[in-house]
Amino acid sequence: MKTNDIWVIRNVSLLGGPPVDVSVAGESIHAIGDNLTGSFDREIDSTGKILLPGVVDSHVHFNEPGRSDWEGIATGSAAVAAGGGTVFFDMPLNSTPPVLTAEAVRAKRRLAEQKSRVDFAIWGGLTPDSLDHLEAMAAEGVIGFKAFMSDSGLAEFGKAEAETLRRGMKIAERLGLPVAVHAEDDSVIAEHLLNHPRKGPGSMRDWLESRPIEAELSAIRLALDLAGETGADLHIVHVTSATGLRLVAEARAGGVTATAETCPHYLLLDQATAEKIGPDAKCAPPIRPRKTVDGLWDALRHGLIDTIGSDHSPAPPGMKAGKDVFAMWGGISGCQHGIELLCNEAPLFKQPMEQLSDLWSEAPARRFRLHQSIGKIRVGGRADFFLLKKQPNVISREELLYQHAQSAYLGRQRDWRITNTWLRGLPVDSTTRGKFLTPQTP
Ligand SMILES: [Zn+2]
Repeated sequence: MKTNDIWVIRNVSLLGGPPVDVSVAGESIHAIGDNLTGSFDREIDSTGKILLPGVVDSHVHFNEPGRSDWEGIATGSAAVAAGGGTVFFDMPLNSTPPVLTAEAVRAKRRLAEQKSRVDFAIWGGLTPDSLDHLEAMAAEGVIGFKAFMSDSGLAEFGKAEAETLRRGMKIAERLGLPVAVHAEDDSVIAEHLLNHPRKGPGSMRDWLESRPIEAELSAIRLALDLAGETGADLHIVHVTSATGLRLVAEARAGGVTATAETCPHYLLLDQATAEKIGPDAKCAPPIRPRKTVDGLWDALRHGLIDTIGSDHSPAPPGMKAGKDVFAMWGGISGCQHGIELLCNEAPLFKQPMEQLSDLWSEAPARRFRLHQSIGKIRVGGRADFFLLKKQPNVISREELLYQHAQSAYLGRQRDWRITNTWLRGLPVDSTTRGKFLTPQTP
């Protein structure tokens, strides 16, 4: 397939309508309609299949440079594409160095331009050490700044206490970029651990119960207060509960600029399943009890979630082994199957697919000001999309494209599978190379 081909996908279902033809010319969607005529270089019959806009995964950790033995851009982007993704935003940790300077942005950009199969954007880090570098990182085109309100687990990526966050938000506001926060309050977690002392190594159950929702809520409240005070544009990543989402909605109603992300694993897993899965389901904030998960689906239906990102964050198997779950690295490998499983589960929760698909495609593209041609299937827009095909089976270890064949979703049943992903009109494979995306000026 050449870059200037004109081709057509026939009889494909777009969400909520009868089957249509979708034609592509070069990088863009040329026409959508019944029985499109013309001279096509190629025709793909997709009867019975569904075409969805490419996933814009605004939250992954590919850990390159420096920790490519944890994941890597080549393997990570291959998994993103297999999961319907055409764009990812890489987090400033856990690469070495972390992205805290302009030079680190450039280094990551160079590597991703060489290795990524799909388009990408880069988050800069907001830590006590990076405040003087935010402006230079903005000049390099970062999509925004990410801060940890709790211990990040890595000494080189410092925690943003209230004063650091306040100062960082003021600078980000002036630069016109959002601040994303990992919102958990260490003091609430410490208090819980003090009141629930463990004898011996911590089990998965101990871990799941060790970071109460109140730890999240406390940090979310502080972040919203600081955003209100500084006028910053706040994005709270991986919110796990409807209560947290309501805090964001209330603040927004009061004039604060704030959005909330959740991740597929907070919708797909609950405490009981996470306990069975074990360390592959360890993440922070942890997977929540069933009631909270049902509440999160309900909040989703009511429009309280702004974006869905995978928070794909793997580590070598050795860091997930041992007796004490507390000592293991936390992070779920999920960018390959999270979206596919949400497509499968949505009907069970009476969740309209149109709304769900928007949350991982157009909503993040719009929220982070990617070019308006990205995120939606429409004439003139970029030909970034993926096909879903009915093919019941279970997720197997053999199909995993990650650096390490670990996943919280092994053995999970699905009816629908993602079979093909196209980026700018080309089928994504080992030869496609992604471009660096920057936020458009408002
Ligand atoms: Zn993350």
